[in-house]
Amino acid sequence: MKQKGINQYLVIIIVLLLGLILLNTFQNREDDYTRAGLIQDMEAGRVREVLIHPNGEAPTGYLEITFTTGEEKTLYATDITELEALVRAHGIEPQVLDIQRENWFLTDMLPILVVVIAGVFIFVMMSAQSSNGGGNSKMMNFGKSRARLSMGEGRITLKDVAGLQEEKEELEEIIDFLKDPGKFTRVGARIPKGVLLEGPPGTGKTLLAKAVAGEANVPFFSISGSDFVEMFVGVGASRVRDLFLDAKKHAPCIVFIDEIDAVARRRGTGMGGGHDEREQTLNQLLVEMDGFGVNEGIIVMAATNRVDILDPAILRPGRFDRKIAVNTPDVGGREEILKVHAKNKPLGDDVNLRQIAQTTAGFTGADLENLLNEAAINAAKDGRAYVEQEDIKKSFVKVGIGTEKKSRIISDEEKKITAYHEAGHAILFHVLPNVGPVYTVSIIPTGSGAAGYTMPLPEKDEMFLTKGKMKQDIMVSLGGRIAEEIIFDDITTGASSDIKKATKVARKMVTRFGMSENIGVINYDDDGDEVFIGRDLAHPRSHSEAVAGEIDKEVKSIIDECYTKAKEIILENEGVLHKAAALLLQKEKITGEEFAALF
Ligand code: ADP
Ligand code: MG
Ligand code: ZN
Repeated sequence: MKQKGINQYLVIIIVLLLGLILLNTFQNREDDYTRAGLIQDMEAGRVREVLIHPNGEAPTGYLEITFTTGEEKTLYATDITELEALVRAHGIEPQVLDIQRENWFLTDMLPILVVVIAGVFIFVMMSAQSSNGGGNSKMMNFGKSRARLSMGEGRITLKDVAGLQEEKEELEEIIDFLKDPGKFTRVGARIPKGVLLEGPPGTGKTLLAKAVAGEANVPFFSISGSDFVEMFVGVGASRVRDLFLDAKKHAPCIVFIDEIDAVARRRGTGMGGGHDEREQTLNQLLVEMDGFGVNEGIIVMAATNRVDILDPAILRPGRFDRKIAVNTPDVGGREEILKVHAKNKPLGDDVNLRQIAQTTAGFTGADLENLLNEAAINAAKDGRAYVEQEDIKKSFVKVGIGTEKKSRIISDEEKKITAYHEAGHAILFHVLPNVGPVYTVSIIPTGSGAAGYTMPLPEKDEMFLTKGKMKQDIMVSLGGRIAEEIIFDDITTGASSDIKKATKVARKMVTRFGMSENIGVINYDDDGDEVFIGRDLAHPRSHSEAVAGEIDKEVKSIIDECYTKAKEIILENEGVLHKAAALLLQKEKITGEEFAALF
């Protein structure tokens, strides 16, 4: 699209230039004043003055004739010496100017050029403004797709996507198809039209889609679902139409719709009745996807982290019938991602990416990229040209928890409470088998508002949570509050988020995972997706008040059980509690090893 635009400008510029040059030439030689005319005028005494301009290439030149009326005319001559004699013969003394090696460019071309450049400049400005949608011309471009087309240079390929081995394999045939659609059509193979990438934010969905386009070396139209959503009805739908029109011209190509959940939410769930803007847009998208043939060479890729809220119609065969789950990376994947992003960062020899990969379970690709970037910033701040393990450790805390705020002033009493609170968490992390061990315990307040933190070292990636593990999670959460209770007469509000977390886990155990004997293996969980107020109003809770009461009772009994057990463990280790708190007050931050040594 861009290319064509530039060509158009070029043509216009050339035409303008030629036109002006011609015009200029005509203006100069336009008056068909002749030698005969001059003779006539001189004989009639109408000529007052004659100026002779010899050219560089003598004897050519021109005569500038001023009449008694004040009028002026120009006569071009191939031989001025002959004309000079002619003028003299009529009793007029011509003024012969010096031979001017007239700079043709300066005198004739420069004014033209200035005009042309100014004209082109104004023209380009105007068109640029209208295509940016700025100013008044915005209205004209409303329905245009906002897709960005990118191809060629600096393209991302599968090599840039670390880990995600299975995901890449699943995309292999799509890439093959885009490279050579004929290969597939000849044997009558059907290639999916739509591929839906689904996974948490930052796991590399956008990156993967770009890599597919880059790998196949085809145009990549990308648009975000939220771009479709405008105030004015019909705009979204027309954008979709426009987008696919463009794509068809560039096939084989990829159309990528990021955050598709913004347009493709389940229909008929809005508060204000059915036919809203989003719905029209979605309908248009479905129409377009049905509209082109299976092997036309357009692959529609889309990304979402909320596959659960998508309209089922979008997942039907012939639409997004290929779903690829893009998950948070495992240890191996994390190490590879770290390697990719460490490529342009010189690492000190103490840096152990494998060890960092091990301590970052749950981190997405984006988190890891961020982690290394923060580490590089730390190194730069210290004036080092390479990144040390310590830089990464520092940024680990920053990325995970927010910057440590050493500057905030806290009272000694507050500090003491926090120290015991964190020590309580840490003891449970240490003692309980399925959680921890402790990585760092700190009573330095964090950027996100916590007074301190206890960070465990994740040991392995877990596919399933067991009942035992979930109970231990609850116990750890309660540990802070329990320690406060044992040591101080009073309790603080500092444990509110711990309590909330514990309650949430317990409730999930009962309503989602069927882990309570009294409630049984039934899902009473509404997924907590209060996205559609309309839908929630229309569908009352799926269980009765009696069951709700039963659930609350079960949640309470789980919490109570965990509380009692956790308190026993902390009381058994009261010596460690005091020692850990004292050490924390002294050093503010202790490592897992320092803590373990207290036992
Ligand atoms: P998503 O679209 O899933 O939210 P992105 O594709 O936008 O995530 O990823 C954000 C950034 O995180 C990428 O630009 C890249 O730097 C990094 N990243 C994520 N996953 C990977 C990966 N598998 N390999 C390399 N970098 C990754
Ligand atoms: Mg994305
Ligand atoms: Zn706590």
